[in-house]
Amino acid sequence: MQSIIEKVSYLQGLSEGLTINEGSPQGKIISGMLAVLNEIADEICALQSQLAQMHSYIECVDDDLLDLEEILAGEEYLEVECGHCGQQLHVETDRFEDEDIIEIICPSCNETVFINDGAFDYQPLPVDEEMEMKNPRPRL
Ligand SMILES: [Zn+2]
Repeated sequence: MQSIIEKVSYLQGLSEGLTINEGSPQGKIISGMLAVLNEIADEICALQSQLAQMHSYIECVDDDLLDLEEILAGEEYLEVECGHCGQQLHVETDRFEDEDIIEIICPSCNETVFINDGAFDYQPLPVDEEMEMKNPRPRL
């Protein structure tokens, strides 16, 4: 199938071949219309290429989002509020097992947020509360 640009080029060639020149009033209108058609065709071609770029970009973002969803589904997060700017931060609960005091740089205000420094009392939630109830851990 011919592209719009090819069709317009064909019509422009035809008008030249038929000597529809700008001498006559009709010739002026036809030449003017063909020039406008040519611009529209160029514009559409540019838009199509931008659309294709956008489409592949959205596909990339969609893939990344899927990866992120998988990561989030697999890990437990704790919501912490930055004491400086109030930004909600998400901290992996895994990190609480490794360190006593956790330092996080707030992505919003770049201030250091401390967790478990005594001021913050964190109680890890059981991964599966129902399991915990059915099989209570022996108390020491
Ligand atoms: Zn902050």
